[in-house]
Amino acid sequence: MSDQIETRAFETETSQLLQLMIHSLYSNKEIFLRELVSNASDALDKLRFEAVQNADLLQGDSDLVIRVEVDKEANQIIISDNGIGMDRDEVMANIGTIARSGTAEFSKMLAEAKDSETDANLTGQFGVGFYSSFIVADKVTVETRRAGLDAAEGVRWISDGSGEYTIETIDRPDRGTVITLLLNEESNEFVESYRIESVIKKYSDHITFPVQMLKEPTPAFDAEAEPEADEAEEKPAPEPEWTAINRATALWTRSRKDIGEDEYDEFYKQLSYDYQKPLARIHSRVEGKQEYTLLLYVPTNPPFDLYDRDRRHGIKLYVKRVFIMDDADNLMPGYLRFVKGLIDSDDLPLNISREILQGNKLVDSIRSGATRKVLDCLKDIAAADADKYQQFWDNFGKVLKEGLVDDFANKERLAKLLRFATTATDGDKQVASLDDYLGRMGEKQEKIYYITGDNHVGASSSPHLEVFRKHNIEVLLLSDPIDEWVVSSLTEFEGKSLQSVSKGELGLEALIGEDGKTDAEDSDEEKSITDQIAEVLKTQVESVRVTRRLTDSPACLVKGENEMSGNMERIMKAAGQAFEGGKPVLEVNLDHKLLQRLKSETAEDVSADLAQVIYDQALLSEGAQLENPAEYVKRVNRLLT
Ligand code: ADP
Repeated sequence: MSDQIETRAFETETSQLLQLMIHSLYSNKEIFLRELVSNASDALDKLRFEAVQNADLLQGDSDLVIRVEVDKEANQIIISDNGIGMDRDEVMANIGTIARSGTAEFSKMLAEAKDSETDANLTGQFGVGFYSSFIVADKVTVETRRAGLDAAEGVRWISDGSGEYTIETIDRPDRGTVITLLLNEESNEFVESYRIESVIKKYSDHITFPVQMLKEPTPAFDAEAEPEADEAEEKPAPEPEWTAINRATALWTRSRKDIGEDEYDEFYKQLSYDYQKPLARIHSRVEGKQEYTLLLYVPTNPPFDLYDRDRRHGIKLYVKRVFIMDDADNLMPGYLRFVKGLIDSDDLPLNISREILQGNKLVDSIRSGATRKVLDCLKDIAAADADKYQQFWDNFGKVLKEGLVDDFANKERLAKLLRFATTATDGDKQVASLDDYLGRMGEKQEKIYYITGDNHVGASSSPHLEVFRKHNIEVLLLSDPIDEWVVSSLTEFEGKSLQSVSKGELGLEALIGEDGKTDAEDSDEEKSITDQIAEVLKTQVESVRVTRRLTDSPACLVKGENEMSGNMERIMKAAGQAFEGGKPVLEVNLDHKLLQRLKSETAEDVSADLAQVIYDQALLSEGAQLENPAEYVKRVNRLLT
């Protein structure tokens, strides 16, 4: 029974994308098979998962398999599975359109990608796997029926990949999906069984379901039959049998020592679609109150959407070898969202849903165990191979820093993993650990000093650093936006408190004597000038005092110990937060020529201009923007002319 055949067009984007992909993946054609086998395996996983609730879905056919058949005469490859299948709506939604939102972005990146490795990598990230069949096929036919539906509710979908497809309802006694590829002229190699077999072994060995092909059975030696062999009358040629050609065991259940590097790497590729070898790997079985196995990888390079906090996490959840879900974000904290891999629990119920995952005690304890494993692994890398750790930090450091804000329990561990640019290291590279800092610091130094700014140059040229530079005291230069949150949550390290050089009292006396006495009272003579400036700036500053921080610059702004830094205020404002922070204190350097001029100036309007310019410049040197730049220019020009 077959209704009318309906013809539909792909979304425009879909057909454009198809063309791009076919073209760019051409040199790596064989991956189409990996994609289709992997879809079939997902379909079997989904069926097994749904059958936990509803055993009827299996309908007496519980041997879940994937079969690949080649038909030389018809020039076809047929890939079938007895998995979950699709109903009509699903076919249209899943393979008539590209469901995921990143389509346009994908096309763009594909167009820009330089090599086929990157292409293949992108293909996976965006989940356009099915379409790769058009690399090798002139025509693709999908026949499918969703488990649980009647035989009459099968669906046939056909397309040549040029922009349209047809869809019709068919009778299909078996559940699951059959995909038939009519090979194009340039892809004849794939009608050879041995070719297909080697591709399956290469990419799909670890798939937990058997991937079968038809094989002639190896004839059993039959001693009695031998003498009569010549007659060969009734003996039919041995029928080929379906034979599994992949290993079909879950890699992570095997013992570490039996798994080769290559196998681990290949598994990572399958899992992550990342064609670079991973930077590190953790394979471990946790036993005790809770039992689970984890196989986690730290990638070498970051994914393009690393900073998207909502990006899919990379952890798959299995329960007793049964696949439960992708992107199990409850199993890994957000700041480790770059970790890829799987966790296979022995204790969680099979019918666990995303909702239950949240706030589940078992899940929480798996997450903290897995988090610890990752942090320990990073610590080991840092200890064993500084270059490798540096590579990790350069790529993922900003994300790891989120942990200091989000993961209170691991604050100490995370603090040790931080790397900074400092006044003692060269340039903007973040290379110094807090332990390095402590190791370099003088005996009497009690605090770890830092400055924040919205970029490295700004932070490293801040006037606040002058006294520190003069006395050779190292200061951490923080210029990632997240750093403001890092220092508000990391207030001390190994018993030394972290101190902003632009806030409050610096406590430098012990280190550098009188010079460092930031809270010294101003003398009367000093007071007369600071009062004069304060009078001009009374709406803009809290107070004016003589600085002990500056050696070269005329002035700087200082915030109270518990106030938000100027940098933080600017970040908040940029994020659209209406925010009025406390007013800063203006510190002035009386040795500076500008201040000396102010002191000797008799014309009141000129000294007012000078005071205002000194304040505006202090703002500018912090990286702030002036509220009225034109006014500033006029004022400077008045003073210059
Ligand atoms: P992805 O697998 O990354 O989601 P694909 O383009 O390969 O992207 O597949 C799109 C969707 O089509 C799948 O998510 C799945 O819902 C459906 N699909 C593909 N192949 C099968 C299959 N053999 N059985 C059931 N559903 C399938």
